[in-house]
Amino acid sequence: MPKLESTASHESNTPVLRLAVPSPLRRLFDYLPPKQLSGEQIKELKIGVRVEVPFGSRKLVAILVSIETDSPVPAHKLRHATRIIDTIPVLSDSLMRLYRWATQYYQHPPGEVFQHMVPSLLRQGVEAKRELPQAWRLSETGAQLNEESLKRAPRQREVIDFLREHTLLLKQESSELGLSANAITTLNKQGHIELVSVEQSQPSLPSGAEAQLELNEEQAQALEQIQASASRYNCFLLDGVTGSGKTEVYLQAIAETLAAGKQALVLVPEISLTPQTIARFRRRFSCHFALLHSGLSDRERLQSWAQARDGIASIIIGTRSALFTPMAKPGIIILDEEHDGSFKQQDGFRYSARDMAVMRANYENIPVILGSATPALESLNNALNGRFTHLSLSKRAGPAAKAKLSLLDTSNQTLQEGFSPALLDAIAKHLNDGNQVMVFINRRGFSPTLQCNACGWVSECQHCDARMTLHKNPAHIRCHHCDSRSAIPRHCPECQKHELIPLGLGTERSEHLLTRLFPDTNILRIDRDSTRRKNSLDAMLDTVHQGEPCILIGTQMLAKGHHFPDVTLVAVLDADSGLFSADFRGQEHTAQLLMQVAGRAGRATKPGEVLIQTRHADHETLQTLTKSGYKDFALSVLQERRAANMPPFSHLALLRAEAPAYAAAERFLLIARELITQALDSSGQNAIQIMGPMPAPMERRANKYRAQLLLQSNERKPLQQLLAQLCPQLESLKEARQARWSIDIDPQDMI
Ligand code: ADP
Ligand code: ZN
Ligand code: ZN
Repeated sequence: MPKLESTASHESNTPVLRLAVPSPLRRLFDYLPPKQLSGEQIKELKIGVRVEVPFGSRKLVAILVSIETDSPVPAHKLRHATRIIDTIPVLSDSLMRLYRWATQYYQHPPGEVFQHMVPSLLRQGVEAKRELPQAWRLSETGAQLNEESLKRAPRQREVIDFLREHTLLLKQESSELGLSANAITTLNKQGHIELVSVEQSQPSLPSGAEAQLELNEEQAQALEQIQASASRYNCFLLDGVTGSGKTEVYLQAIAETLAAGKQALVLVPEISLTPQTIARFRRRFSCHFALLHSGLSDRERLQSWAQARDGIASIIIGTRSALFTPMAKPGIIILDEEHDGSFKQQDGFRYSARDMAVMRANYENIPVILGSATPALESLNNALNGRFTHLSLSKRAGPAAKAKLSLLDTSNQTLQEGFSPALLDAIAKHLNDGNQVMVFINRRGFSPTLQCNACGWVSECQHCDARMTLHKNPAHIRCHHCDSRSAIPRHCPECQKHELIPLGLGTERSEHLLTRLFPDTNILRIDRDSTRRKNSLDAMLDTVHQGEPCILIGTQMLAKGHHFPDVTLVAVLDADSGLFSADFRGQEHTAQLLMQVAGRAGRATKPGEVLIQTRHADHETLQTLTKSGYKDFALSVLQERRAANMPPFSHLALLRAEAPAYAAAERFLLIARELITQALDSSGQNAIQIMGPMPAPMERRANKYRAQLLLQSNERKPLQQLLAQLCPQLESLKEARQARWSIDIDPQDMI
């Protein structure tokens, strides 16, 4: 892989270590082994261990990719590595294969790919060691505490009672169990409890009590097929409407995996890794879990990683990057809500965790299940063409009936802050019946624009091609793209008149109206602003779960993963914004979102109703979705994509550049275009189309001008070959220093 000009190249008996060093360069670096290493020790070196190397004036942590007998680098220029950090590789054989595949497929610098694949402490060179988990237990005095002395301290008493019953309380689980951190600190200070290290960490959470459900016929068939390939690679698309019992199928597939002494890796979207999700798994299995979520400290993350690597944790649950968790005995990978956008990283190493999960399962030779009620068209196509095994669950599994989906035509209506009279009536009716209502609106803030009625001035961001969103609580205007904020102007900055009006709808505005119309009803707004504080989302969800009538207003945060048994009406305030998106995936994403939102209605025994407000009630997407469902919609869009030769029937790569001036970004892409044309001419390739350079849909963001060049190819291979040739050339351009550039393989959104 390294492309180095060589004069007198190194060639001797000393082997050369070829390393992925953290650097933005798309190449590997050669080093001599550390001086103190004996020939014997060098022979024992394993691929995938970390190596500390001098790099310029710094010391960096790199990974050993291969051991070579010679190097194109002149002998006198080769430096010695400082030390070998590991004896056991931090990347196993199959993770090394995944690493190699990713550097080539995504054309990303190898050192940065490596950095993404390990926890941050390992990037810093910390020992990859599993520490024994710590648990609280009663001390001698604690064991003798009597009722009387704890009477005034009920929180402490809960802890003592717990320990009397379970003997041990794992330190990391105390908050999940709802035990008070203060009470624990006090008891420890008083010497009533003490910390001990435990060898095999038995979880202290009550778990494993819930029985398996008896599967219905479709579920049983799905599970049977999964089990039939229990110890070899197979990719399943578990395509089942919301509530069809996909999770039950996952749980039973995991049960089989655990029974065979193997581990399960479960990947979920960022938004749905909630205590509710975890609790559901805990109720079923009494094994050790490794959880990888954003709330962990670096230390805890490394410990979860190590517990998975050593086979202590049988179930690993995490978001996108948990994909790279090592497993001693890999058994199955499950990726829930596989269509979800959060599985694609949108900056730096722009990988798709879904596609890489399939590759990993392949390398580990284990099954992988991709589950969704609204599969991505790529996945559906793979299921139709036989690359994936298609498992369908067509009806709801539990007692819940399917929610009724209807369109509310608002084209000739006067709306009150976006609500039609019919919708307000429906809300009142459902509340009167003692039920809960969910209102979905895809914008946070009060209104997306502030406009002057007199001269037409609008609140634009000074740094982006975007408008500032008006927020009322606290009052300010803010750009949702660069986060710049200012005070709400009192009068129009242009004509000085006092005629500024908020234009358009956001969650705060709906909250405002509904609070006025339903003063006696609890109204909960759930969006990124209202859930910024830790635990505030959990607190609101707790309120919802008490089952009292209430109205939930929220953004797509509400659409995923949550289970609201008392919600009987789901209202979508405005389905139109997504319908006319310029992005070719706009229809698909809108449909997925609408179906996910609709899936929140009538989850338990009460029948549900979904009302979608639109000014385009005859729009084909809405008609197909409401009349025949997601599957028919998806099949018809697939046909359109095939006719237009768009993904998944062709392959895209997006070359992006940004610079303080548009000309610099464009110049870089013009040169790239020239290089591509030359390469295509000389290879006689004509399967690749080039579009651009053109300004990005949002040309200016945070004071950077952005341009892009789109490559489209009917086949993947020529595109991959072209990029492999192109990227090193681009790297060495002097224009590359005036623009930041990146390449996005299989881009998900073009913004
Ligand atoms: P999904 O993951 O597809 O949304 P879930 O697995 O959450 O579906 O199941 C939805 C509801 O149906 C849950 O309340 C679950 O307990 C219930 N359920 C699932 N499978 C069965 C079954 N075989 N028999 C009875 N109830 C079931
Ligand atoms: Zn004005
Ligand atoms: Zn901005």
